[in-house]
Amino acid sequence: MIGLYKELNPPNRVLMGPGPSDVHPSVLRSMSIPLLGHLDPAFLEIMNETMDLLRKVYQTENKVTLAMSGTGSAGMETIFVNLVEPGDKVIIGVNGLFGQRMVDVASRCGAEVIQVDAPWGEIVPPEKIKDALKQHKEVKLVAVVHSETSTGVRQPLEELSEIIHAHGALFVCDMVTSIGGIPTKIDEYGIDAAYSGTQKCLSAPPGLAPVTLSTRAVEALSRRKSKVQSWYLDLSMIQSYWSEERFYHHTAPITMVYSLREALRLIVHEGLENVFKRHALYGGALHAGLQAMDLELLVKNEHRLHQLTAVCIPKGIDDLPVRRRLLQKYGLEIGGGLGELKGQIWRIGLMGYNARQENVTFALAALEDVLREQGYHFISGAALEAANRFIRENE
Ligand SMILES: *Cc1c(COP(=O)(O)O)cnc(C)c1O
Repeated sequence: MIGLYKELNPPNRVLMGPGPSDVHPSVLRSMSIPLLGHLDPAFLEIMNETMDLLRKVYQTENKVTLAMSGTGSAGMETIFVNLVEPGDKVIIGVNGLFGQRMVDVASRCGAEVIQVDAPWGEIVPPEKIKDALKQHKEVKLVAVVHSETSTGVRQPLEELSEIIHAHGALFVCDMVTSIGGIPTKIDEYGIDAAYSGTQKCLSAPPGLAPVTLSTRAVEALSRRKSKVQSWYLDLSMIQSYWSEERFYHHTAPITMVYSLREALRLIVHEGLENVFKRHALYGGALHAGLQAMDLELLVKNEHRLHQLTAVCIPKGIDDLPVRRRLLQKYGLEIGGGLGELKGQIWRIGLMGYNARQENVTFALAALEDVLREQGYHFISGAALEAANRFIRENE
């Protein structure tokens, strides 16, 4: 009956939603390289190089900087299962879906969670975290989302870091959509633990979760009274697999490690500063273009991400028909809103490899066409003109 199934041949898409984003061609090529055994000396070398590259891209010298097997959420879970013991107090900033997910994960680890809320589309004000730290004694860690992909907000970290460390707590950051898009500055900002994913600004497929832990976080891990609840995500064992000991834990997903190494190599080769500038330039151009179509952006300029833009759906226009048409007519995927923003926003990603002129032009032109079909009126051509002007003036 095998003849019933045709060879796998999905349609071509341009992935400009909140992730996965398009994979860099050279990363795709790296994934067709034949496997090595995971304990082969040649593969151990590749693991070492991957860790070196990860440190560069994370902007840290943390020894414990490695890739967990699993997607971004496995990175989130890794940090919480390792740093939290039942009964520990943790403060979590919640201004979107991924903050909510951290609350869920931390409470499953038995943490006593103190939630600090802010409206979706705004930052979590550092003063609110400060107040929570004053009210609650012996807080083990404070966690925030650096790039809240559900809203397009960029959380400022520097002041938070001072506040959190003044109270002796660990500072944890979700950097899933930050890495390879905006500066993470783990060491400079004094972030004790961060996790990320491969399918956002790294332009690799989903499947690995790079994490990094400061010396203070590693000490906290070694002071645990109880065993880490998860065998698979126990960093004390994973560390010895990724270190000189090469203690067998689980089989690393070889192909994914190849893809991560290539994705990181491309970023280091381009230069981190250039990569950040490229995201800011084309993200800014997209913002200018959308505004020239009289569309409102959810987040105010100073806290707006470049790699993920939330744009408000105009009155009289429905979410789904527009996204369906973009997909059918142009093969273009953008994201819808999540949680309380469902049906209210679209989320457009310009992540990693996609942060380029051609993607900006394509997305604006396709959106302009489809919105016009749906009866939304604005000055024709204004979007591309505004975007191109932004690029000329900021290049
Ligand atoms: C995508 C994302 C995650 C979850 O990553 P998965 O790879 O979907 O598990 C977590 N946090 C943020 C900010 C994200 O954007």
